[in-house]
Amino acid sequence: MQITESITCPFCGQSFELVIDTSVPSQCFTTDCEICCRPFEVVAESEPGEILSLDVRAN
Ligand SMILES: [Zn+2]
Repeated sequence: MQITESITCPFCGQSFELVIDTSVPSQCFTTDCEICCRPFEVVAESEPGEILSLDVRAN
């Protein structure tokens, strides 16, 4: 199950929406900011249908 979550870019501070697959209990991936296009790391802990925690890390 996928959930759309709002995250904040660690570089430009703008928030945008990201789709998280909550069937994966623990995931870490790199995404590009939609506003400034810089890549950063997203760390998500999930239960099916629910996001437990979502962190962003600047590389
Ligand atoms: Zn940005």
